[in-house]
Amino acid sequence: MPSILPQNHAIRSSQRVLSGLSSDKIGTMQRRFIARRVQSTSHHFFLHARVYCVSKTITTKPPPAKEPLTYEPLTCTTTTTSSTRSVLNDPSLKSTWTHRAWMASGCTTVLIPLVKSATGAIDSQMWVEPLIAGYIGYVISDLASGIYHWGIDNYGNAKTPIFGNQIDAFQGHHKWPWTITRREFSNNLHALARAVTLTVLPIDLLCTNPTTLAFVGICSGCIMFSQQFHSWAHGTKSKLPSIVLALQDFGILVSRSQHAAHHRTPYNNNYCIVSGIWNEYLDRSKFFELLEMIFFFKFGVRPRSWSEPDSEWIEETETQSIPVSN
Ligand SMILES: [Zn+2]
Ligand SMILES: [Zn+2]
Repeated sequence: MPSILPQNHAIRSSQRVLSGLSSDKIGTMQRRFIARRVQSTSHHFFLHARVYCVSKTITTKPPPAKEPLTYEPLTCTTTTTSSTRSVLNDPSLKSTWTHRAWMASGCTTVLIPLVKSATGAIDSQMWVEPLIAGYIGYVISDLASGIYHWGIDNYGNAKTPIFGNQIDAFQGHHKWPWTITRREFSNNLHALARAVTLTVLPIDLLCTNPTTLAFVGICSGCIMFSQQFHSWAHGTKSKLPSIVLALQDFGILVSRSQHAAHHRTPYNNNYCIVSGIWNEYLDRSKFFELLEMIFFFKFGVRPRSWSEPDSEWIEETETQSIPVSN
């Protein structure tokens, strides 16, 4: 049967034509088909027999009313290209001279205790204590970053005194996490640099103990740069410097996978953003859940993580804003 495929195609075409006709017209056509069938040659028998059966079915049982053809517009992601341009050119992501000035003062504030500690250690030939104190400062800075992050993620709002801007920024970060990687260095760190300057500078000036100064210098430095470590935790592996990747892999800086868990449901874990060494312990011991219960029963305040899933937590995917050339 060399012509079976064209015949089947013709049958389907005939079915489509017949299904759109009224019963009277189909009856007329049916009689014409029968007459032609009698006159047809044998190699057309298969085609005509199939068409006859279809027309018979439609004549005795009218086809059900077809649903009108509807047009459903596809969700178009290109509508976000203008917002992408605004993200890439957003002046709120750029560093200002004020941001840079706070960064300069923050770095100076961190360097002063480190230099004083090193000088004191040289003078006294006492290195072990400052080194241990510096390590403890590094460990404590991770815990402090987690507690602070938990606090501003869960309580208050943009109008909260002192912390309002940070709360608003961290809520925005949960919605548009990728913007942290587009934020310029001083823009990202200036708030913590200002806090470090205002709190640590007096200690720098008053303290002379090398061990205390080592603790203060390392702890405040890690806290000030925690937002940079956080930014690297959101970085793409192929775009991060190899030294950063190595530090993340060794667990010296918070890893990308660990921080990614913070941005997934239930949004109530992995708050620490310096090294992340406290995350597993704090989450397993339900440390933050205990604090939340205490806050709730003592003050009647519910943490934001209890209201998840909430649109405030849910990330808008970066695919909605793939960069476009200008
Ligand atoms: Zn968070
Ligand atoms: Zn993050």
